Amino acid sequence: MLKFIYNWRFYSFGREQYQECMSNIVFNNNLLGLRQLNIFVAVIAGCLSLIPILAENGNFLKAGIYLAVGLIALLISFYANFIMQQINVNNRIIYFLTVLYYANIIIFSTYLDIWSNPGTFAVLFPCFLICALIMFVNPPQLNFFLTFGAVLIFTVSALIFETPMNKIFLIANTFVAAFLSLLITWQITKLRLGLEISANRLEEERNKYVDQSITDELTQLKNRRDFNQTFQRFLSNYRASDDWLCIALADIDFFKLYNDHYGHPQGDECLRGIGGALNSLNTLGVYAARVGGEEFALLWFEKDPANVDKVINHWTETIRNLKLLHEKSKVSKYVTMSIGVYIIRCGSRQDTEGLYDLADKALYTAKSSGRNCAVILGDEIKQYKIMPKGD
Ligand code: GH3
Ligand code: MG
Ligand code: MG
Repeated sequence: MLKFIYNWRFYSFGREQYQECMSNIVFNNNLLGLRQLNIFVAVIAGCLSLIPILAENGNFLKAGIYLAVGLIALLISFYANFIMQQINVNNRIIYFLTVLYYANIIIFSTYLDIWSNPGTFAVLFPCFLICALIMFVNPPQLNFFLTFGAVLIFTVSALIFETPMNKIFLIANTFVAAFLSLLITWQITKLRLGLEISANRLEEERNKYVDQSITDELTQLKNRRDFNQTFQRFLSNYRASDDWLCIALADIDFFKLYNDHYGHPQGDECLRGIGGALNSLNTLGVYAARVGGEEFALLWFEKDPANVDKVINHWTETIRNLKLLHEKSKVSKYVTMSIGVYIIRCGSRQDTEGLYDLADKALYTAKSSGRNCAVILGDEIKQYKIMPKGD
């Protein structure tokens, strides 16, 4: 049975897409429409609850009970509206509400004798059904079972209470109403799904292109474009606990010789390895990008500038652990990097280009003072040098 329901629903979209969309659909997207319909159905249900009072002719107890139920239904629906104003609405509240509407309608329908005389309200009832279903097109099983439940009650009561001639007419009437109700629900579901699917696709495509435009294909690090934007952001947005911003530029030592000796494809492989190593620094809160051929830029915040040494040591150790053999290097038998770091107090300056140049100068100093080392410098930091441990 469930399989049949699914097949019926998703035949035009495919099972996977249908299920994916159903799990993605958040009621929030349709919140305004839902709230309006909620009020509409609640008011009609409330009005319906007034009919017994007019019809009771002095039986105040019975009339009072129906009025109380009607008022409770109205109150609950207003409360639901109030909840729906919040951004995160729990779908369960909405399912509960649907069932409540149906219960309300069934109670008053019982009072109004709809079940023993379906013809009188044959139009009114499916109208309610359609209203409620349109509201809740999203949980398909629930809609389906409610519709069939209503059809069943309607048919059984017609079979029990009606004359043979009326039976056929009323049962046919019920089935037509149920068919129309499901057809409308189905069309709306399709429409919603179609919109949802195209919106999801567009979003996916957009994310894919955005990702591509800021990622370096070879190393999978961020590229220069992303670095420029991130640099600007790091300069203006920082947490109260971040006191210092560190900008590091790094360049592989004797990489031309590496390429000449091992070939360009092996050089690419080496860059990939370095990229992976730098990417792993994000566990320390370090942002890394490839800003040129074999040049990398890193950004991170520090509470205490003394911590910079820890990051640099971890960084050089990670590179050394890669053990990328470089026989032509004049400073080590493995691939090494020269690093220039510039440290500023957060909020003290905004000029990305000027800061980039200062970090580049530190890198230049590292290169000219023997490579395979890091030179650290800052507005308030006296220049010093870190040599890698071991080797
Ligand atoms: P130094 O220690 O002074 O930095 O020496 P170096 O040889 O590394 O410096 P140089 O800037 O002269 O050489 C950089 C080399 O990086 C030149 C180029 O062939 C290589 N390179 C740049 N981009 C790529 C790339 O995408 N793949 C490969 N395999 N090599 C690249
Ligand atoms: Mg180099
Ligand atoms: Mg270079």
